[in-house]
Amino acid sequence: MTRPLMAGNWKMYKTPTETQHFFEKFNALVADVRHCEILICPPALDLTTAVEATIQTNVAIGAQNLYPGKEGAFTGEISGRMIKSAGCCHVLIGHSERRRYFHETDANVFEKTVAALEAGLTPVVCVGEVLEEREGGKTEEVLVRQFRGGLGELTADQFAELVVAYEPIWAIGTGKTATPKIAADAHATIRKEAAKVFGSSAAKSLRILYGGSVKPDNVGILMAQEEINGVLVGGASLDPLSFAKIVNYRNSDRFLETQPHQLMHSR
Ligand code: PEP
Repeated sequence: MTRPLMAGNWKMYKTPTETQHFFEKFNALVADVRHCEILICPPALDLTTAVEATIQTNVAIGAQNLYPGKEGAFTGEISGRMIKSAGCCHVLIGHSERRRYFHETDANVFEKTVAALEAGLTPVVCVGEVLEEREGGKTEEVLVRQFRGGLGELTADQFAELVVAYEPIWAIGTGKTATPKIAADAHATIRKEAAKVFGSSAAKSLRILYGGSVKPDNVGILMAQEEINGVLVGGASLDPLSFAKIVNYRNSDRFLETQPHQLMHSR
């Protein structure tokens, strides 16, 4: 089984200088980590700083979005090729904030996923339901629709390369985390759909991350679920110690004992 992926999404936070300062602390805190892969997705303007700050470390850098074209007259956009040549390996696609504020559809998610794969990037494709859909018993229907619409037309080879993040929108930035059971059930729904479209072996190998108010004190119970193959973290990835605790979820008590300076710093 592949190692869990612990990913941070900085959204529209941090300047290049703040990015530099983050990695000056964070790299040392996670230098010994071998049990998982670590990914941070800063804003586009910080990517080069982040890549340079993590050369020869175990921290990978990804973008938060891409435009599905190689180049052209698309003012304000960046392509997969640009992201890849900046030294990134992943890109987030279809985050709920992009779907909600920038009207991205499942068809856009499909185009972007293909463009990312063609550029040699690993897409981290986000899906998830809003509160009314969950309360209306529509979670499964929404997840299946997003999965089919965004990913259903990929080839088997393309599908094998990607990561899916289940992010219930009611849990993003709200402090409300899905219970481990809610998250695991949603992951199982996505995996079941993946098995229908791409076969059970491909579905079994699919990495599904959970995202939505993951914090140092709830990451352990979430990661204890077999269905959860990692996390996508917004707010709690902005602070180096907080995200390092999340990355070190297996032994955060021991980790805390060995990091007295950083802990004092964060208070
Ligand atoms: C996110 O931005 O993908 C996210 C899950 O945010 P938060 O952890 O702040 O809820």
